[in-house]
Amino acid sequence: MGPIDRSAAVDFLNTRHMGSSGVVDDLTSFDAVVSWAVTHEVLRRADLPSRKAAPSATRRHVALVIAMRSAFEAFLLTKTAEARRALVGYLNQALASARSTETVVVADAVFDLARAYDERDPGNVPHAIAWTILDCLRTVPPGAIRRCSADDCILFFLDVTKNGSRRWCSSEGCGARVRARRHYQSRKMSSPSGVPGEVA
Ligand SMILES: [Zn+2]
Repeated sequence: MGPIDRSAAVDFLNTRHMGSSGVVDDLTSFDAVVSWAVTHEVLRRADLPSRKAAPSATRRHVALVIAMRSAFEAFLLTKTAEARRALVGYLNQALASARSTETVVVADAVFDLARAYDERDPGNVPHAIAWTILDCLRTVPPGAIRRCSADDCILFFLDVTKNGSRRWCSSEGCGARVRARRHYQSRKMSSPSGVPGEVA
């Protein structure tokens, strides 16, 4: 088994992706954010808000989640001190939106932190996402999270190759698509009529 190239933080960035008519955002409501966080094991079902939260509170949490995602993306793409400061600011804001208690756990001789929320509050959602981003930033070199090289794709991927040579979000998807396009263009160039497939 090779190194793990899945990361919930990268999946979080990829909640923005290209659809047939432009950028699609999967996180358009609080319910959508909650459902994403549970599906990706960022938030345990047991930590979900216990009662219907006020719309003003959930709107604020969604806005914070979106701001964290934009700041995370901007930091990865630019690596500037300004982008880092903005990201840290949003992460701290999200960490302040819920109270949790951490305890040390040891599983298979590996030390880790287990987090339990003090309340089942909607603030748990941005808080858990901030932890996921922080976990990723602590364990993955920032240069290993890159955007797909296809010019019509906005997905990020985690490059676990030794020489950092990965270019596509998926070699079967964008990789194959760009290779096919290049092949078509080179055939077109070498064909006298400009129509591919008429090369002698
Ligand atoms: Zn791609």
